[in-house]
Amino acid sequence: MCTYCTRISRQCGHCRMSNVQKTASGSVSPYTRHNENCSHANDKHHNTCKCPKWIYIRQAGGKRERYSLVTTSWAEAQEIASGKLRAMDPEIAGARAITEKTQNELVTVTDAWQMWLDRTEHKFGKWGVYPQYQTFGNVFKCWAIEQGIEHIQEMKPIQLARWSLSREWTRLASRSQRWGILHIVFAYWTMLGVPKQNPILAIKADRPPKDHVQDPYTEDQVKALMASIKDTIPDSIDVREKHVYVERLTAYLTLLLNVGCDLVDAVLHEPERITEEKVGDRVI
Ligand SMILES: [Zn+2]
Repeated sequence: MCTYCTRISRQCGHCRMSNVQKTASGSVSPYTRHNENCSHANDKHHNTCKCPKWIYIRQAGGKRERYSLVTTSWAEAQEIASGKLRAMDPEIAGARAITEKTQNELVTVTDAWQMWLDRTEHKFGKWGVYPQYQTFGNVFKCWAIEQGIEHIQEMKPIQLARWSLSREWTRLASRSQRWGILHIVFAYWTMLGVPKQNPILAIKADRPPKDHVQDPYTEDQVKALMASIKDTIPDSIDVREKHVYVERLTAYLTLLLNVGCDLVDAVLHEPERITEEKVGDRVI
């Protein structure tokens, strides 16, 4: 008995010639639509020419469809047809539906950032960059709330582009480094399928001009601040240690002014813990 059409012969001529593949879920039939100038134009069972391959699908529930497989390769057409038949299996279709549902699940900005923090903690521990990401996450979440964005998938390139051009960013000397962090975070989320397309990919933060002055201080104010460090040495410090105090405070304030990090980040800063992170081909 033909396993496809249940006729008497083991595989009837019709099924063998029409390349039907069949299961209890339905059947698929890849076939060739010959071009007018094909030398096999009159042979509907000839499939090895370079004419477009199509498929006819009949599902057990009654649904029928016919469309181009966008290939001229008969081997590829048969492979695609087999895949379509497998996908009709209720168990596989069910698993696929669950996967698609999971992929389409909306992830809140807070949960997404926590995912990034968890990944950071797993990789580096809670020191080093972790507190910096924690602080930056709060800035990111505040911005999202202001924009009325609840889920990562709702973020549009235009919103991120506007943010990158806002004074909140342009006043930062460290804006290209900080924006680079966002690029890494979005690349991570996109790799996980949240979102499906990376909205920040094409948006770069300009490097600040060389004469940029870190807000809110003018150049004169910064000079005066640095010059006054020596006048702030507490009396309790041993006279032999006073120059160390000045050196350390100068380094601390220079770090704050040039990197734009928070006080606690600067206190916890350990240069030897800096690791390379990549954005595309660029190491930041
Ligand atoms: Zn042909």
